[in-house]
Amino acid sequence: MSARAEERWDAVVVGAGLTGLVTAVRLARTVGPGRVLLLEAGGEPGGRARTTDHHGFRLDLGPRALYHTTRTRLHALGIRVPAHEPDLAGALALRDGTLHPGYAAPGPLLRTALLSPRERLAVARLLALSRARPALAGLDAATWLADRLPTERAREAAFAVLRISAYTGRPGMIAADALAAHFAEARRGVGYVDGGWRTLVDALALRARTLGVHLRTAGRVTAVEGGPHPHVTLADGPSVRTRSVVLAGLSRPAAERLLSGAGQESRSSAPQQTNRPGVPAAPLRTACLDVALSRLPSPDRSLVYGVDEPLYLSVFSRTARLAPDGGAVLHLVRHDDGSGLGASEVRKRLYELLDLCQPGWREVLVHERFLPAITTMTAVPEARTGGLAGRPGPRVPGRSGVFVAGDWVGPAGLLADACVLSGERAADEAAARL
Ligand SMILES: Cc1cc2nc3c(=O)[nH]c(=O)nc-3n(C[C@H](O)[C@H](O)[C@H](O)COP(=O)(O)OP(=O)(O)OC[C@H]3O[C@@H](n4cnc5c(N)ncnc54)[C@H](O)[C@@H]3O)c2cc1C
Repeated sequence: MSARAEERWDAVVVGAGLTGLVTAVRLARTVGPGRVLLLEAGGEPGGRARTTDHHGFRLDLGPRALYHTTRTRLHALGIRVPAHEPDLAGALALRDGTLHPGYAAPGPLLRTALLSPRERLAVARLLALSRARPALAGLDAATWLADRLPTERAREAAFAVLRISAYTGRPGMIAADALAAHFAEARRGVGYVDGGWRTLVDALALRARTLGVHLRTAGRVTAVEGGPHPHVTLADGPSVRTRSVVLAGLSRPAAERLLSGAGQESRSSAPQQTNRPGVPAAPLRTACLDVALSRLPSPDRSLVYGVDEPLYLSVFSRTARLAPDGGAVLHLVRHDDGSGLGASEVRKRLYELLDLCQPGWREVLVHERFLPAITTMTAVPEARTGGLAGRPGPRVPGRSGVFVAGDWVGPAGLLADACVLSGERAADEAAARL
């Protein structure tokens, strides 16, 4: 068998989703042009932040809100995102199959007929003071809500608001510190992005190219070896000798597969999902229905969240430029609450929500896409895995020169915030070896 050709790059980033793009941009800003190779298995960058185009309607893969941390970190990388704050004032709450005035904002919360005066005050205080605190370490969100709220109805009402941004329908699963910190982040304001999240991806990819990053698509990595001279093997094409590798946006199991068996420096060197060895963290999957309509039947029912069922509907095109004139882009979600409903039942419930909020939508349908179980988080920070503080850092024990970044890495942030923050840290660690 003839020896395969070998390339040399100072740093290699594996994966060109948001994490990998941020990592590559930050690395190239530090080390200069022509030194960073960004490898992407697919045909284009973006990963789960891709946006598809249907006759001029831009559909993200499920609803996307840009949080303050992601926005400011992108700004620091030279990227200004055209994003707009949705108006919560007209939000509606769905309970017992009936729409009620919503209570996600502080004013309406103090008036909602869904709660007693005592319950309203308790929920308002909990939501207003929500932030990560040492006292929450080791607690799951269900225990936190039970400690702080007087009735089951108040707990249900509070979690209905908290889960919108955290995507989970399971308060017993997510760590209280993660949920509280993320809600505090959401309170700083969220943005719906003109053109969808592809706008971020395109801006990051352009920035990376401008800084001299070499992006190679159809570049699937099959093995990574650490050490003084790390080595990256590709499914097709030459292998790469380098000094630093960042596995960016790969789940822990995917990172483990790349590292397993490839030139171990030590036997105990698998990347740990959490700082608590032997406790695997579970992924979070969400059912989404993405819809493009040529006309919006009921503009007054544009933002609806379920109280007694983890449902959500938002007309994103009311806030961001996503549809041709007169058209509408809607995203609907049913969060996983552990009830084990099958995909067809979930789809039926999303259709029922759409029938209730936008009657006649089928007559004006341009495109629909049902995603029964897209991965929203590759690993939920759970109380049993140590919450946010239990997530590992970017270094992989026993694999010098190999770093990890993504939504399961680092002590801060959920969703894209965690991707961006951990990507920056991994980039700095990788750059320090060059
Ligand atoms: C429905 C939904 C809604 C969301 N809503 C929000 C929101 O409102 N706000 C928010 O902040 N976040 C949100 N998120 C989360 C956010 O989209 C993700 O955290 C982020 O896009 C993940 O980026 P990533 O780069 O870490 O992973 P990915 O996007 O999964 O990218 C990983 C990339 O690595 C590539 N890859 C994998 N293996 C290899 C290999 N062996 N070789 C080369 N390349 C490889 C993949 O092809 C992929 O392109 C949402 C996610 C979903 C699914």
